[in-house]
Amino acid sequence: MWFSVAHEDSSKNVSPQKRGKVVIISGPSGVGKGTLVKRLISESSFPLVLSVSATTRPPRPGEVNGRDYWFISRDEFLEKRANGEFLESFEVYEGGALYGTLRETVETQIRQGKWVLLEIDVKGALCVMKELPESLSVFILPPSLEALKERLLNRGTEKGEDLSRRLEQAEKEISFNKFYKERIVNDNLDKAFEELVKVLASYN
Ligand code: 5GP
Repeated sequence: MWFSVAHEDSSKNVSPQKRGKVVIISGPSGVGKGTLVKRLISESSFPLVLSVSATTRPPRPGEVNGRDYWFISRDEFLEKRANGEFLESFEVYEGGALYGTLRETVETQIRQGKWVLLEIDVKGALCVMKELPESLSVFILPPSLEALKERLLNRGTEKGEDLSRRLEQAEKEISFNKFYKERIVNDNLDKAFEELVKVLASYN
């Protein structure tokens, strides 16, 4: 399995700096984790790469296939899942789209010494934490549920039923924050970013 490759590397004469890492970032929809992740990749000096997940949800305006997600059909997703191509895969919202981390993407980047960022939901995160207990897991919290609702409304990508589903889900997701190694409240984007950089630096 791919993660045993990383363990084997550590026991051989591979410089520890060369070994890749896995950094899991979760948080409810609208908490700003996407923005934080983009800033981490463009502004920090860590050898970070974002693992591009596959999803069956349609692209939002401005999203690019292969950059934001691999947008695939449900049939294609189920075929990949049956072939064991996902490290983890879940229906993030009940009755909704499927999302999954591609094993090959993570495996290749870990071997190249990269820090692979997984921006995934709590179910997927717990699954990866179990397989890779040495991975760094960070949960991004909103200052309050009210603030989160406002952000989702301002984003304007979810409306009506989808919005209330995401909020309901947000409450459930937040209750999982205790399983993460680190928690950061995103009250102010710059401050949250600074904290995130500190957390990653201490993991270095
Ligand atoms: P969105 O539809 O807003 O892009 O993402 C919805 C949720 O799916 C977010 O919480 C995001 O972290 C999660 N997600 C994105 N990709 C994956 C993945 O590959 N696996 C899992 N388990 N969750 C994912």
